[in-house]
Amino acid sequence: MQRLPISEVRTDLEKKFSRNHVTILVGETGSGKSTQVPQFILALNNGKEKIAVTQPRRVAAINLAKRVADETKTTLGQDVGYTVRFQNMSSAKTKIKYLTDGMLLRELLLRTNLDQYTTIILDEAHERTIITDLLMGFLKTLLQRRKNLRLIVMSATIDADKFSRFFDGAEVLYVQGRRFPVQRYYLSKPVEDIVDATVRTAIQIHASEPMGDILAFLAGQEDIDKAVDMLNDMIQSLPKGVPDLIALPLYAALPPQQQLKVFEKVAGNKRKIIIATNIAETSLTISGVRYVIDGGTHKVKVWRHDLGLDSLLTMPISKSNAAQRMGRAGREAAGKCYRLYTETDYYGLKSQSEPEIERCDVAFPILTLKLAGVSDVLGWNWLERPSKAAIMSALMQLYALKALDDEGQITEVGKKMAVLPLPPNLSAVLLDAHQKGIADPVLDIVSCLSIENLIMNPHPDKRDEVYEKRLPFITASGGMGDLVVLRNYVQHYRRLPSSSDRKEWCKEVYISYRAMSNVEKVSINQSEQDIRNQLESYLKAESANIHSEDKSVQLGPSVLNEQIIQCFLTGFLANTALSLPGKMYRTIAGGQTINIHPSSSVFGKNEDAIMYTEYIFTTKAYARNVSPIDLEWLQRIAPHFLSRRTAGHD
Ligand code: ADP
Ligand code: MG
Repeated sequence: MQRLPISEVRTDLEKKFSRNHVTILVGETGSGKSTQVPQFILALNNGKEKIAVTQPRRVAAINLAKRVADETKTTLGQDVGYTVRFQNMSSAKTKIKYLTDGMLLRELLLRTNLDQYTTIILDEAHERTIITDLLMGFLKTLLQRRKNLRLIVMSATIDADKFSRFFDGAEVLYVQGRRFPVQRYYLSKPVEDIVDATVRTAIQIHASEPMGDILAFLAGQEDIDKAVDMLNDMIQSLPKGVPDLIALPLYAALPPQQQLKVFEKVAGNKRKIIIATNIAETSLTISGVRYVIDGGTHKVKVWRHDLGLDSLLTMPISKSNAAQRMGRAGREAAGKCYRLYTETDYYGLKSQSEPEIERCDVAFPILTLKLAGVSDVLGWNWLERPSKAAIMSALMQLYALKALDDEGQITEVGKKMAVLPLPPNLSAVLLDAHQKGIADPVLDIVSCLSIENLIMNPHPDKRDEVYEKRLPFITASGGMGDLVVLRNYVQHYRRLPSSSDRKEWCKEVYISYRAMSNVEKVSINQSEQDIRNQLESYLKAESANIHSEDKSVQLGPSVLNEQIIQCFLTGFLANTALSLPGKMYRTIAGGQTINIHPSSSVFGKNEDAIMYTEYIFTTKAYARNVSPIDLEWLQRIAPHFLSRRTAGHD
């Protein structure tokens, strides 16, 4: 194997690691941090280590474990393994375990001293996910209790001062990546259609530049699929003699086998173009790339105070993201980077993206702190403290969900919410359902909502065909909305006799088979990793004394559906809207105008009031996953909420 840049600092790293509790390691993407550092540490202590390496992304945790098991010629799941939600490929003997940051946080909350590990490596710290940020705060305290614990914080961006300062001046070690010059090109004027510009640039590179693969960055799945299709069309009409061009998409919702394709070398006289989200920016390394096309945007989760929701928005990237993207072209040889924006636009970019904690809902982190016994959340060890307003709004939300009491202490309900692996509002829904004796059907729907990318967007060419296949399920919902449609899907899926039938059906209706099997998964003995089992066992423990029977079988379907929607209302009060003329709605919480998304089963209908679980903004504001609700339910469940809000806006 090639010598990786990280080898240059191995001795230095070992020294710092042995001497200090905390070491910060900064190194360019591809320099060998994620795959090599755990192996160095293990060798250093003659295999007597238990190392946890966190990753913000599931895909990265899985791929890294596979790669390192390969490198060490061991069976995955033995010495080297991974743990992500729904999947545990590790054992008690595992020495290097890759896990998502969320999994480590859970372990921390369950077994507060993380005694099963000797070293924790927080990888991709520059991504600044809420969970990694929280882990840093908790670990800082834990290090005082566990003197033999070592921590390594790894980051792909130079800006490591913040981490060093936070850990009382921890030493920072820099590893210089192998870096070849990358020539950079800007547009002379902005383009309208970024997908089209990406495709044209790719074709131009292909026609005029020496061999070497292309990596293009676009914001999301839709754009990426569109670009891949356009390229595939154009490839047909390439003149004879021009080498083949193979276009591959890469985004989180892609089935794993397809994700792996981007790592395969293409044989013969061919060029590969990978069109990816920011997933390929730092956490995955693809070799062979010489050309980068940077579309200049990415999707980020943003908390919208006005709507009381997190939503995914397409935003300009930061200079730091642009530098990372450009760097992908110069890993193995000199490269070129085509920025699909002007130089002036580049200088207008922020230097860093804001950390998640500054832009997202902090209800979950606050509840986590309360569970860990932190009473003064404002004064906690924040790597970066969210704004007071954000903390206050989270406290209000948790209070409304009855997770906190009048004194701001965590309630019994709150404790349950905090350990359920769900956002607090979904936990509230589930707990209410449990009380009503309809946990089973609600659990089906909650499982669906807690899994990303379950219902896939068909390609425009296929939309009608897919819609036809979905229609019976929509009709069967009797106009009661998308939550009921979701449940119909799950029930149908469950009745199918074999996994091949299930796969086939998922393909027809454009539902992700992988995601659906996660909804359904009954895992063996791994209740911690399995949301459904976990929730079920939690609820069972709950009802040990008060035997709560399943009432859902006794209720008629429409009564049951109404009750289901009412459960959801307890968690999604803030996501309700009243009708306006012209099939538009006004949100009760913020007075915003909102429309029902065309993908909804109640699109085009005129309802008095709606509840939605998702908000997106494209050309206008859309409510997705919509259920009609009765004003009377709102009045019953949240009289104060309704009277105050409507009075305020009339
Ligand atoms: P870093 O964490 O510093 O970004 P990694 O440890 O992930 O770097 O990767 C180091 C090198 O190992 C990469 O440059 C690449 O050459 C190789 N590598 C890592 N993962 C894979 C993989 N799945 N397939 C092929 N090569 C890989
Ligand atoms: Mg890495």
